[in-house]
Amino acid sequence: MKTLEKRIKKYLVERGWHHLRPADIAKSIMIEGAELLELFQWDNKELAEVKKDKVKVEHIKKELADVLIYSLEMSVLLGLDTQKIISEKLTHAAKKYPAHLMRKNAKKGAGSGEDSAYWRIKAEHRRNAT
Ligand SMILES: [Mg+2]
Repeated sequence: MKTLEKRIKKYLVERGWHHLRPADIAKSIMIEGAELLELFQWDNKELAEVKKDKVKVEHIKKELADVLIYSLEMSVLLGLDTQKIISEKLTHAAKKYPAHLMRKNAKKGAGSGEDSAYWRIKAEHRRNAT
């Protein structure tokens, strides 16, 4: 991660983009995320089907890279330790979504209904956030 962060910082400094406003980077993350999402418009294939579509995977790689690059730019510009913030969030998510509860709903076709543990946990979190 440090190698990528250094490369991103160099890329930004070389172009004079190291003073970009965080709001502009946040907008770019969302715009690139929308470009990634657009690849799935009117398309809801299973993972295995998507992986077989080599052309689609190439498009996904490009848009995903855009999202990841802008995300790393945000982290670098704010002087964050990307590895640390991802690790902390993964630890939080692992506690929030216990594996034994999630696995039960992860079977093909399940886990997206209101009766799933995931939905129950999300609804509880939203209630507590307001
Ligand atoms: Mg793009």
